[in-house]
Amino acid sequence: MDKDSNDKSEMMQFLEDTAPAKPGEPSHTPRSVWRILITDDEKDVHTATTFALRNTRILGRPIEFLHANSARETVEILKNNNDIAVIMLDVVMETPNAGLDLVAVIREELKVTDSRIILRTGQPNQAPEIEVIRDYDINDYKLKSELTQSKLYAALTTAVRSYKQIRMIEAGKQGLDMIVRSSSDLLTKNGLNAFAQGVIVHLSGLLSVPPEGLICVRRSDRRRESEPHIIAAAGHYCLLIDHPLSDLEEIHARNLLEASLDSRTNVYDKYGLALYLGSDARGDMSCYVSSGNQLDDIDQSLLEMFCTNISICADNLTLLEQLRDYAYTDGLVGLPNRNALTEEINTFITEGNREGYVLAVADIDNFAEINASLGQKYGDLLLQSIAKRLRNKFPKPCFVARVAGDTFAIFGPDTHLKAENVLVPFASPFDISGEEQMISVTAGYVPIIDVDGGATEAIKDASIVLKLAKSGSRGEVVRFDSEMIETAKGRLEVLKGLRTAFDMERLELHYQPKLHLESGKVLGVEALLRWPVEDGEFVPPGTFIPLAEQSGLIVRLGEWILRTAMMELQNLQYQGWKDIHMSVNMSVAQLQHPAMMQTLKRVLAETSVDPSLIDLEVTESVAMEDLTNNTLLADIKALGFQISLDDFGTGFSSLNYLQQMPIDRLKIDQSFVKEVKDSSGNEIVELIVHLGHKLNKKVIAEGVETAVQAEYLKSLNCEEVQGFYFARPMSSTKLYAWLKERT
Ligand code: C2E
Ligand code: MG
Ligand code: MG
Repeated sequence: MDKDSNDKSEMMQFLEDTAPAKPGEPSHTPRSVWRILITDDEKDVHTATTFALRNTRILGRPIEFLHANSARETVEILKNNNDIAVIMLDVVMETPNAGLDLVAVIREELKVTDSRIILRTGQPNQAPEIEVIRDYDINDYKLKSELTQSKLYAALTTAVRSYKQIRMIEAGKQGLDMIVRSSSDLLTKNGLNAFAQGVIVHLSGLLSVPPEGLICVRRSDRRRESEPHIIAAAGHYCLLIDHPLSDLEEIHARNLLEASLDSRTNVYDKYGLALYLGSDARGDMSCYVSSGNQLDDIDQSLLEMFCTNISICADNLTLLEQLRDYAYTDGLVGLPNRNALTEEINTFITEGNREGYVLAVADIDNFAEINASLGQKYGDLLLQSIAKRLRNKFPKPCFVARVAGDTFAIFGPDTHLKAENVLVPFASPFDISGEEQMISVTAGYVPIIDVDGGATEAIKDASIVLKLAKSGSRGEVVRFDSEMIETAKGRLEVLKGLRTAFDMERLELHYQPKLHLESGKVLGVEALLRWPVEDGEFVPPGTFIPLAEQSGLIVRLGEWILRTAMMELQNLQYQGWKDIHMSVNMSVAQLQHPAMMQTLKRVLAETSVDPSLIDLEVTESVAMEDLTNNTLLADIKALGFQISLDDFGTGFSSLNYLQQMPIDRLKIDQSFVKEVKDSSGNEIVELIVHLGHKLNKKVIAEGVETAVQAEYLKSLNCEEVQGFYFARPMSSTKLYAWLKERT
């Protein structure tokens, strides 16, 4: 079932549920009289009763009698009239129990619960049991001989009063029922209409008139009062839905509605009424129903009661609509959010508009730094100015949204949204509380026709291009093409394979020895992750570690690596290599995970190895970030671990910071070691070794492949080395053999 027909069927149900509950076609006599049904098989009783009560008014209204001579006739009348206030019922008719049986039918089968019942018996011994009176909600029973004019009047007045109260309560209940019902419906487009339809139907039901009416809303626009608009209609007004009120030809109905909206009260006249249903942020709402005649005060108080409930309803609806707004708007900059963008794009796609539509996603470069250095308030103001400028530069038919912290999206026809124009709004500075702020922005540009899927895929594609652009083409717009999809898909395949390999416990750790250069003593090993595929081949860590980092898999994976390496270390100790160190690589994503410290403590507790034998290798960028933001590295050190700066020289450590970092060792990146071709060596290697010593850190060189390199490092007094020249990374079995052979 498609969305539309679904909505329709909900609406149908709503209408059915809220229509007068009686079966058959209800009569719609205006309820300015109390209708009393006399059921008796003796003709005299009918005449006597009507005579006794002629010209009598009860609670200000005249009485109208209906007559039934048998149970069958009674059922027929009740089926066709839903406004019988009191039934005066003879106990003994065709059978001695016919009256009581009929009561059961009325209450249980016909489900008539509001009409009051007065039982009449000829003889005292025919009186019903007290249980029957209670179970069937019987108001009273009287001996026929007792029913003098004044007693009859008193009994009827009590019954009518109680009937009126029941109707009032019912009106309130129906209002509440509507709240519940419309609340769940409102999130669909037809919610408000369904609600409004329900109001008309209920109201007509209460007044016992055919459901003919309409509801209009006058939106309160801050600058001017807009013209009232018809939002729901029933009966012959149906065609007026979504029309301005001025299209309504019945002048008196229009006047009533306008008077009600102006005065914000209920307004009645000879033909109908306009009920004021309340006001809210959306505007004022009134409902018109034609009543056919003047309403008395009882009807009016009934309606006031109903209105109170309806305005609670309307309030709830407003709340829900606001909630819906929240779900689709960005609170900070007031633009549509990701949800809204998704819906917008999907609407276009389902309408068959792929061709010629594009999605551009623009991300501010280094926004985190702007935020950190100039304050979050400043960052918020900047985002707001950007939103404003984008909205101005890309007006309708373009759709501008904020999809993440510092990422904005523009969706629209490529005639209005050309790739070369995406960055134009960012070319001039933004004025942020008097400061001129220039920003650099990188953007991805995705023609929807190239997207394989819906809005979610389009946004995903855009963020892939954006990511690629961020790493290679900052400050530019990068256009999405199918090759990118292939690469992205390929990466996804790799990641899937990695997950499976991890879950099936197919991953291994290999270990590469680290030696003391002067003595040749084995100082420790570095654990390196290996993903074996067929034929003894391995997928290079360089291709899958970055994917594991991006996907977050590295957190689980990293914990496993740490535990496995530490267990291996424990094993090495059992086998007699007591003072060997174990190096474990740690990714940024791992270090930044909130549970990082707990994981370290847990794994330590599980393996009970001495943490000073564990050397955690982190990269410079991690260390730098840590220094400016928190004390993670210091906390790790406090647990007893050693820390090495891996790939040193490729990052951005400033000397100042380096001194403050709680690290034990600098690990010279292999690219510098590679530059050492002869005994003249390499300046950077020399610099790093000296620097390390000056800072009182140990220095290790990795990637040592030749004797020349080893000799050169020795001449610099670099104490530790690691590289193919000494040993390659190897499985744990091979490592034990290698170690044995050396001793
Ligand atoms: P890394 O931490 O700098 O590891 C050293 C890399 O250099 C290893 O590559 C090692 O096999 C290689 N290598 C060692 N000696 C030589 C040599 O003499 N010549 C040459 N050409 N290469 C040498 P691998 O195992 O391919 O690892 C690459 C990178 O992947 C590692 O660089 C590390 O950043 C990452 N990685 C490896 N295992 C793990 C792990 O368990 N966890 C994390 N987070 N990252 C890991
Ligand atoms: Mg390493
Ligand atoms: Mg390295």
